[in-house]
Parts: sequence; structure tokens; C-alpha cells
Amino acid sequence: MTIQKDSVVGISYVLTNNAGMELDQASASDPFFYLHGASNIVPGLEEKLEGLKVGDKRQVSVDPIDGYGEINPALKIKVGRDAFPSGTEIEVGMQFAADVGNGQPMPFTVENVDGDEIFLDGNHPLAGETLNFDVEVLSVRQATDDELSHGHAHGPEGHADH
Ligand code: ZN
Repeated sequence: MTIQKDSVVGISYVLTNNAGMELDQASASDPFFYLHGASNIVPGLEEKLEGLKVGDKRQVSVDPIDGYGEINPALKIKVGRDAFPSGTEIEVGMQFAADVGNGQPMPFTVENVDGDEIFLDGNHPLAGETLNFDVEVLSVRQATDDELSHGHAHGPEGHADH
């Protein structure tokens, strides 16, 4: 069986950036499962896995535009400490959700703290990164009806209690 729309695919992978730093991984003993064709994974990787079968290995380089996007400078903002509830401990690396006016809370990370000025970044942590996947296909099966209606994979056997 080859990977096509509505396949549930188990992969192992190592993800590195162009500097060679490991960003993420899934081992063969604890594979990552996804539903093919449902945008569960970045488009640049999904496209390259199409048509592969168990045992196939690929090295896939995904440009930011087909990964987590380019860095959007408009999502780097500066706010005053008074934008936070008083007494809030604010530290670099902290993440929280903020409503920026469209009713959809979006995640921001504290990039820097300079006195009463807080520098925030709403970009995905991997925005602007070229993603280098070293990936192996470990399993391919047809998705269950539940998986198709949920739009995601339910592990090796397709069972989930939600
Ligand atoms: Zn589900």
C-alpha cells in the first residue's frame, strides 16, 4: 500500500534546521502517526511522502514557505508591563495566548524584557526555518471512519477514546 489521501502513516524522523540543530524527532519505537491529505503535517513534507511505501526513506528539505511560514515582523510587538495583570511574573521564553482583536487568541512568546517594555513574538517558533527531515515510512494503512471524521490519526491501530 502506498501513501495516498486518507492513509494513516507512521513515520520516524529527525528534524534539523540549516545550522544542523536538532529541532524534533520521533523514533522507530515511538513513531509519529498522521492522516495523509488532512494538513496534519507541514505541506512541504506531506507532498514528498505521497506515493511512498513502508521501508522508504527520504531526506526532505522544506523551505519556510512550505513549512511554518516566513517570519512576519508585524507579529513582533512591544507592550508595556501594564498590559499584564499586576503581579504577573514575566520571563523570557514564557508563552501565553493574547487576543489581538480578531477574536482568535493567538500564542505569543516573550522574546525580551527591558524594564517595563516587554517584547513579544507571535510567530511560530519554527517560522523562517528551513526544515530538514530525515524520514522513514514505518506503516501505512487505510484510515478508519472515526479518523476521517476527526481529521487526524488515532495511533497505530486507529483506536481512541475521544
Ligand atoms: Zn480523534
